[in-house]
Amino acid sequence: MTVHHDCDVLIVGSGAGGATTAAVLAEAGHHVLIVEEGPWVEQGSVVPFSLDQMDQQYRSGGVTVALGMPSIAYTEGRCAGGGTEVNSGLYWRPPEATLDSWRIKYRIKDFSTDDVLSICEEVESTLSVQKVPGEHTPASDILRRGADRLGWKNDEIPRWMTYRDGAGATEGHRQSMTRTYLPRALAAGARILCEHRLNKIVRSGRRAVSAELTDMTAATDGQNAVTISFRDVIVCGGAIQTPAILQRTGLRHRVGRTLAVHPTVKLAARFDDVVNTPDDVSVFQVKEFAPNISFGGSASHPGLVALALTDNWRDFGSAVTSWPELAIYYAAITSEGRGLVQVVPGVRDPLVTYRLTKRDRDLLGQGLGRLAMVMLEAGAKEVYPSFKGAPVVRDRADLAAMTTMFAVARASVMTVHLCSTAPMGDDDKRCATDSHGLVRGTDNVFVNDAALLPEAPGVNPQASVMAIAIRNARRYCADRAG
Ligand SMILES: Cc1cc2nc3c(=O)[nH]c(=O)nc-3n(C[C@H](O)[C@H](O)[C@H](O)COP(=O)(O)OP(=O)(O)OC[C@H]3O[C@@H](n4cnc5c(N)ncnc54)[C@H](O)[C@@H]3O)c2cc1C
Repeated sequence: MTVHHDCDVLIVGSGAGGATTAAVLAEAGHHVLIVEEGPWVEQGSVVPFSLDQMDQQYRSGGVTVALGMPSIAYTEGRCAGGGTEVNSGLYWRPPEATLDSWRIKYRIKDFSTDDVLSICEEVESTLSVQKVPGEHTPASDILRRGADRLGWKNDEIPRWMTYRDGAGATEGHRQSMTRTYLPRALAAGARILCEHRLNKIVRSGRRAVSAELTDMTAATDGQNAVTISFRDVIVCGGAIQTPAILQRTGLRHRVGRTLAVHPTVKLAARFDDVVNTPDDVSVFQVKEFAPNISFGGSASHPGLVALALTDNWRDFGSAVTSWPELAIYYAAITSEGRGLVQVVPGVRDPLVTYRLTKRDRDLLGQGLGRLAMVMLEAGAKEVYPSFKGAPVVRDRADLAAMTTMFAVARASVMTVHLCSTAPMGDDDKRCATDSHGLVRGTDNVFVNDAALLPEAPGVNPQASVMAIAIRNARRYCADRAG
């Protein structure tokens, strides 16, 4: 059985890009239909940063990889609200210098830094971006303490959370898309079909005319075909799925060829006291070596602690029983490398590859060494770096040995920041879309998500994704108004 729907504007994906786009368009009177592959999961119904959350709200349970030397594990949200439902909620405006350089290098028209930053102000108000009013978690204090003792620049990063007066870090309520822009879009008349996967957009020349989807709800066991016709389609599936959707639609110009990420390496550190807060992450970041290298805290659920110790289980494994005294931290770098996203006929998920440059590899090694130093200064008794054959680090001498032994090829490199697979700008040699997200070679296929960011911004990217999506959505409304 095939079910058919109609709308003015079809929005594919309901994450940071899709939800904001839907709210702006619906409030301007467009008849909007959002399709989202994942389920709607109420905030609070699943423990944040848990394996259960990975199972319910991540694509492929969080097990996805960009092949390379080494391969890079990456994760994507797959639920209503996308990555905003599962992420750490750490808010960074895009740096002004980055916006300026993107405007010039990619020839982005009407891209004033002041305009983007003023949209950021609106986003901050809508998402209640703020610092923790009360106590921080022990894992946060560790980063601050270690960095302070070394005299390294560090700060608390505000989050999109609401708190009651004086509440501690773990008592916040995450202001993700299902709490903010999606309800706004729905109140303005938008509709959402969750558990509906868009497979392909059907084109007639330069115009897209309809979409083919699969209804994934348990009731239909993935058998129901769905078609949707529309005036315009805006693809917001995230930096991995958006290029795959475009390629399946026959749109390939500069699509999926410039994946940019912030690669990270990790370590687990053991202290004398209980430091693990399984359902929260550190709100401090160390920016002494930014933008090249930054340090922060990772999810440290017991299952993830076990995973972090598997690089040298023979020597590290016994530490797993002390998991309450362990927390996981990362060193992230800005990368010169780039990756590819390519659809493979007959295979559901695209093939993703990423190549780190020599400079990237060196930075990851330096980052891990300096991060271990922060841990020792903060009072860590043992540090377990995430690379095969790593030694346990207990003092500066071990640290020197660890740095010599480090090889990126043996490290567990991962990332949660994925961008730039359909970059925007008027330079058609570099960019897949025009300066406002219209895909080249089409009259009505737009992109409006992390894929548009011309480069990884060097800071947590969600605010950049949202601000650019709102800018483009407003332009869309202005263009369609007349
Ligand atoms: C674990 C984690 C931690 C992070 N921490 C932070 C942080 O602290 N601060 C920060 O700024 N950023 C953080 N990020 C990154 C941030 O979440 C992303 O930059 C942002 O969500 C990207 O928005 P997007 O709209 O491009 O994609 P997403 O938010 O990923 O949304 C894409 C949506 O499209 C849906 N979709 C994809 N394909 C299809 C299809 N074929 N049919 C229908 N629907 C489809 C997906 O299911 C998904 O819901 C984190 C990300 C992760 C995964």
